[in-house]
Amino acid sequence: MAPQGSQAELEFGGPLGAAALLLLLPATMFHLLLVARSGPARLLGPPPYLPELEELWSPWALLLCLTWLGLQAALYLLPARKVAEGQELKDKSRLRYPINDVGGSTGSLHTPPPSTPSIAATLCTREVAGVTLTNGLGQGFQALVLTALLVGLGVSAGLPLSALTEMLLPLAFAATLTAFIFSLLLYLKALVAPASALAPGGNSGNPIYDFFLGRELNPRICSFDFKYFCELRPGLIGWVLINLALLMQEAELRGSPSLAMWLVNGFQLLYVGDALWHEEAVLTTMDIIHDGFGFMLAFGDLAWVPFTYSLQAQFLLYHPEPLGLPLASVICLINAVGYYIFRGANSQKNTFRKNPSDPRVADLETISTATGRRLLVSGWWGMVRHPNYLGDLIMALAWSLPCGVSHLLPYFYLLYFTALLVHREARDEQQCLQKYGLAWHAYCRRVPYRIVPYIY
Ligand code: NDP
Repeated sequence: MAPQGSQAELEFGGPLGAAALLLLLPATMFHLLLVARSGPARLLGPPPYLPELEELWSPWALLLCLTWLGLQAALYLLPARKVAEGQELKDKSRLRYPINDVGGSTGSLHTPPPSTPSIAATLCTREVAGVTLTNGLGQGFQALVLTALLVGLGVSAGLPLSALTEMLLPLAFAATLTAFIFSLLLYLKALVAPASALAPGGNSGNPIYDFFLGRELNPRICSFDFKYFCELRPGLIGWVLINLALLMQEAELRGSPSLAMWLVNGFQLLYVGDALWHEEAVLTTMDIIHDGFGFMLAFGDLAWVPFTYSLQAQFLLYHPEPLGLPLASVICLINAVGYYIFRGANSQKNTFRKNPSDPRVADLETISTATGRRLLVSGWWGMVRHPNYLGDLIMALAWSLPCGVSHLLPYFYLLYFTALLVHREARDEQQCLQKYGLAWHAYCRRVPYRIVPYIY
C-alpha cells in the first residue's frame, strides 16, 4: 500500500490549481472546436453557442473512440525487434520498452546488469536490466505505417473518412470521458502500488491534486505500459488522421485541398512521424521520468492533442486561405529551420545520455556534476539551455502561418505552446537544480539564456 502525503512541493497551484485545470482544459478544447467552425472564429470571446448534450454524446463516437484505442493497443502488442531500457527507477530497476530499430540505437543502451535479476521480471512489470523479454511488443513508426495502410484500404473500399469532420464534437466528448474514467482507474490502481512505483509528485494525499497529476509513475499491466502507449500512439496518430479527414473534406467541398491545408498536414505529419521514428527519445522526457500518469497526461494524450493540435486544419476547412508559392516556400523554410534545431538538439542530448563516448558527441565540452552525469555546455546545449524548445516553437509558428494573419485562432497552438514550454522549462530547471546543485548553477552561468538566445 502506498504511503499518503508526500512532502514534494505542489505544482500547478496545488489542489485549487489542479481542480481549475480539470475543468478549464476540457472547456478550452470544446471552446476551440466550436469557434473553429464559426464564421467570426474569434479566439477571445464567448463560444458561438453552447452545445446540447445530444450534440456531444453519441454512443457511436464512444464506440469509434474505443475501437481506435483497441486498434492501437493491438498494434502496440505486435512483436518488436528492439527493446530499450528506461531511466533508473527508485528501486534501481529499469523498465523496458519496445522501440523502433533506428540505427542500432539500443546496442549502446546497456547499463550494468543488477546483481539479482528478478525471476518474475521475464513475465511482468518491473523488468530489470539484462533480462530478456519473453513477449515482444510493437513499435511506434510501424504502428503509423500499419494504420496508414489500414486507412488507405478502408478509404479505397469506400470508408467515408471525411465524415469524421462532422463527428469532432462527439468524438472529443468520448475521448474526454474515456480519459476521465481511465484516470480514475489509474488513481485506484496507484492506491495499492508499492511506494517505489510512485511519481515524485502526485502523491500529496489530496485526491483532486493526485488524480490530476497522477500517483503512479509508470503504471503497467504485465509488459503493457499505459503511459508510454498513450504518449505516442492513439493521440499522435489520431491527430494525423483527423488532419487527413479535414484535408479530404476540403477536397470534397472545393474540388481539391488548398496549398495551406497541404502544408499544415505535411508539417504535422513530419512532426508525428519524427516522434514515432525517434520514439526512444521519449524515455528521457519529463513526462516519462518525472510526471505521474493521471488526468493531466491521459487527457492531454487522448483528447487535447488530437482535437486541439488539429486546430489549424479545422480552421482552414471553414476559413479557406489563399497561399502563393513564394510565401509557402518561406513557410517551408521556417519549418525546416525549426525542425533542424529541434531534431539536432534532441538527438545530441539523447546520443550523449546513451553513450558520452559516441564520436558524434565525444568532442563536445561538458561539465561534471556530483551525480557522475555530465552536462553538455557546447553544441546545441551551449547555445541556450533548451534548444529543443526553441526548434519546437519555430515549427509551431510555421504551422500557423499558412492560415494567414486575419485571425488569432490558428495561433492558439503557438501561444499555448509558448506558455507550456516556459512553464515546463521552469519545472525542469527546479528538477535539475535538485539533481545537480552547484553544477547546475555553473551551467546556468555558462549558458545564461533559457530558450531564445539573447532574449529569454
Ligand atoms: P528535455 O528533452 O528538454 O529534457 C530535459 C532534461 O535534459 C533535463 O532534465 C536533464 O535531464 C537533461 N539536460 C538538460 N540540460 C542538459 C545538458 N546541458 N546536457 C545534458 N543533459 C541535459 O525535456 P522535455 O521532456 O521537456 O522535452 C522533450 C521534447 O519534447 C522537446 O523537444 C519538447 O519541445 C517536446 N515537447 C513537445 C510537446 C508538445 O506538446 N508538442 C510537449 C512537451 C515537450 P538529465 O540530466 O537527467 O538527463
